[in-house]
Amino acid sequence: MTGLSVAVIKGDGIGVDVTDAALAVVDRALSLVGAAPLRYVPIQAGAGYFQETGQDIEPGGEERCGACDAIFLGAIGLPSVRHADGTEISPHLRLRDRFGLYAGVRPVKAYPNAPRRLADPRAADIDLVILRESTEGLFYSAAAHGRAQVIGDDEVRDTLRITRATTEKLHRFGFRLAERRKAKGAPGRLTCVDKANVFASMAFFRKIYDEIAPEFPNVETGYAYVDAQALNLVRAPWDCDVLVMENMFGDILSDLAGGLVGGMGMAACAEIGDEIGLFQPAHGSAPDIMGQDKANPLAAILSGALMLEYLAERSGLDIFAVAAARIEDAVSAGFAANRLRPMEFGGDMGTQAVTKEVLAQIG
Ligand code: ATP
Repeated sequence: MTGLSVAVIKGDGIGVDVTDAALAVVDRALSLVGAAPLRYVPIQAGAGYFQETGQDIEPGGEERCGACDAIFLGAIGLPSVRHADGTEISPHLRLRDRFGLYAGVRPVKAYPNAPRRLADPRAADIDLVILRESTEGLFYSAAAHGRAQVIGDDEVRDTLRITRATTEKLHRFGFRLAERRKAKGAPGRLTCVDKANVFASMAFFRKIYDEIAPEFPNVETGYAYVDAQALNLVRAPWDCDVLVMENMFGDILSDLAGGLVGGMGMAACAEIGDEIGLFQPAHGSAPDIMGQDKANPLAAILSGALMLEYLAERSGLDIFAVAAARIEDAVSAGFAANRLRPMEFGGDMGTQAVTKEVLAQIG
């Protein structure tokens, strides 16, 4: 044992199946590279748990998550289960707040034989990351935080909040990410996506980017207004590397970018703070396909690879990064050989078959 532990919240619906798939793949990759296994700490949480107990997470669950080195989450929420006020069961949003998970990392990569929405052959080269600030921005006033400013019945205002402390950390995270990607052959560019020509908050966001940039002379810098960036993500996404932006912009552009290279079942996600990182597929619990072995587990499996990269950095144990690369290579090789054909893309392979194939590709 390395002593590294992971809190595991399988959650609801397909969250359970895709978590099992991801952890099986993580375990295999670690064992093949000769790394010690992770210790998993199961945590009960979600809409199903709420229905049974009236709580959205087991007692002491948040503290137990915080005591681990990482958190892996399948998916949470069921449309039929709500709080009395109609809001969704969302303990994961509390975890995001509690642990200050400011850096939302959404890789967007084209795989051979996976769906592509753009006919241009360069679409095969799409390999970018949306870095979405995840604790403030326009979501600062999201109803879930109880901060929406309702003014009578004629007007409502929401606040977009950008703080120096979080933005400095976010940009440093982005520059470091661009540096690491450069070491693996990416252009090594961090583009600041904002609306600095209109909003003081966005000009501040860009000013801090400019202040941090000289600390990273090896990373190319660039700016884009968010509207132009949206256009460019459709026109030439193969030219993008790492794009850093405010929460709401990231919410929108990460879905747009994800749509270029497949479906929800490919969208991996990391949410990283100073103390811990949470890793989860970007999709929800997909109740329409739960229990049918139809879910594509690749988003969860690729989130498992992101978790291993994080653990490598956190622990200084490079072997975890080697295991992460084994998983990414296995997914690429499986698609290239047309041996990964998820039902999500009209293929014939359910959750278990896709998982088995990834395990076979790893070795
Ligand atoms: P949430 O608000 O919790 O993100 P949602 O209702 O927006 O959830 P999902 O649960 O992600 O959305 O499902 C949206 C659609 O995508 C559904 O039709 C679902 O079947 C499909 N889907 C989501 N994830 C997968 C997956 N891993 N494999 C196949 N289809 C998926």
